[in-house]
Amino acid sequence: MPENHSEIICQGIAASSGYAIGRVCFVRQEEGFYIEPVDSTISESAVADEISHFHAALDAARNEILHLQNELRRKADAHDVGIFDAQLLITDDQLLTREVEQMISNQLKPADYAFFKVVEKFVAAISVMPDNYIKERTADIRDVAARILNHLQRRSDSSMDYDDQRIILAHDLTPSDTAALDRRRVLGFAVETGSTTSHTAILARSMQLPAVLGIPGDFFEQVKDNDMLILDGYSGKLILHPTRETEAEYRRKAEETLIFFHKLADEKRLSAETCDGFVLQLSGNIEKVEDIETVHEFGGVGIGLFRSEYMFLNASGLPNEEEQLDIYCEMLAKMKNEPVVVRTLDIGGDKLDQALQRYAEPNPFLGLRGIRFCLRERPDILRTQLRALLRAGIFGNLKVMLPMVTCVEEIIEVKKLISQLQEELHYEHIEHALHLPIGAMIETPAAALLAGPLAKVVDFFSIGTNDLVQYTLAVDRTNERLNYLDMPTHPAVLTLIANCIAVARKHNIPVSVCGQIAGDPRFTPLLVGLGVNELSMPPAMLGPVRRVIRKLQMADAELAAMEVLECETSAKALEISMKMLRDAAPEIAELIVPENK
Ligand code: PEP
Ligand code: MG
Repeated sequence: MPENHSEIICQGIAASSGYAIGRVCFVRQEEGFYIEPVDSTISESAVADEISHFHAALDAARNEILHLQNELRRKADAHDVGIFDAQLLITDDQLLTREVEQMISNQLKPADYAFFKVVEKFVAAISVMPDNYIKERTADIRDVAARILNHLQRRSDSSMDYDDQRIILAHDLTPSDTAALDRRRVLGFAVETGSTTSHTAILARSMQLPAVLGIPGDFFEQVKDNDMLILDGYSGKLILHPTRETEAEYRRKAEETLIFFHKLADEKRLSAETCDGFVLQLSGNIEKVEDIETVHEFGGVGIGLFRSEYMFLNASGLPNEEEQLDIYCEMLAKMKNEPVVVRTLDIGGDKLDQALQRYAEPNPFLGLRGIRFCLRERPDILRTQLRALLRAGIFGNLKVMLPMVTCVEEIIEVKKLISQLQEELHYEHIEHALHLPIGAMIETPAAALLAGPLAKVVDFFSIGTNDLVQYTLAVDRTNERLNYLDMPTHPAVLTLIANCIAVARKHNIPVSVCGQIAGDPRFTPLLVGLGVNELSMPPAMLGPVRRVIRKLQMADAELAAMEVLECETSAKALEISMKMLRDAAPEIAELIVPENK
């Protein structure tokens, strides 16, 4: 008997546009389960992957424990904190690690099963010891083992035993979880955490997966696996148990949007030129080489931001110089002579890599992130990356961009390192670029205010508005509760952007915007009017943004931008840009911009 449900509508944060209509796959991530995993056999070719999966789970658990320890340190006494030291000993235990590895490679057992069996062997050995204190440690061991097991079994789509495509519902998906989603099996996803500029949202846009974040927790209690759901990535709405009429309406909307996007794709060879002849460069933001296909598909000219950290986040080990060289060369070959901007490793913030960061920071967004991490914590990684980039530089139009810059010294230090590496390569008779353009990301208020001195030491600027908003407005970009304050048109943010553009012009260096607003048509008139040279965005947004630019008059956009800079509130500034959008390209305003944005 089919159940009779009425429609339930839930409002979240629109994070990645598109409609998904289908059945739910609930990815549960409860912690603490400690039951024997299924015994099965893996193939020999899967052994290496299984072992690295095991190490990633150990690293993830270690990081969580360090974090808990830090939290507790603030609230409890040293004795309680010591409990976690004992747990850390387990994550670092060489004997246990070796035994698990052997069981995986010799007996071809999956990592979770091998780990469970080895832990239980240890526990059995300890339980027969006469010392009560040691015996009691079995609870600690099982506690930490449950944590590790949870990571081992938490492959984002491992619970997807379905033949059809599904909408994923989860309390949380990390950027790595998101990157691991199989596009062919997933229609879209909705999670409780995150906001529009969190890296989970960024990845969803890159993967062209409709996504809604910031779903209220109580909504999850009303959903079951297999329930019918509509996910509206434009407005941030979820509609559970849609009526036949609602479903038909959304299917029509989805169809219309598809047709419209195809039409826009026909314009991909047209330049992004305003009616009065000002040309902008529209390029793509990518996270992996394969994304270049979509940049071509939507007519992007160059790569304005390659987030190289995803090379590190998804790899089982650190990519070495040769591996990186191959990746950069492949990108350059695919892009012919178009510019490719590679951002050096930007680890930290919400892009914590368990394998790289062996400590938990109390304030990761204000910690050793981006260029700080590379210069202070892992100069070896930076050296390898820069050597690979210098070598790749002779094969195309390659530029290097540094993330999270706050002072001139950071640029000078990197440039010194580049000179040293060039000398090194010269003595090793390895071909390399003699000049590699270096750019600074302007994503901290310090960098924006220091644009003058920075312009003297770099070849270009790229404004990272995701972080610039976060750091200027003191708004954690991953916190869904602060979404209402995530305002790129805040007068303080616009003053910094305008300053940066004015300085770049004065010093005759190009300036681009590569934060999320570059691919959001609501801000296109404003950014054009402010005078940026380039907009770099998720490839799928190239069509709509190009259409808007081609319908704008630069003279009008400049006037509007001047007016915007006088505004005292974000809402007023946004209204002016939106009005220009509606006047110039109403079809984009209607289809792309949700009514409640
Ligand atoms: C930004 O901060 O705007 C940016 C483009 O970098 P990311 O989103 O990767 O931090
Ligand atoms: Mg950033």
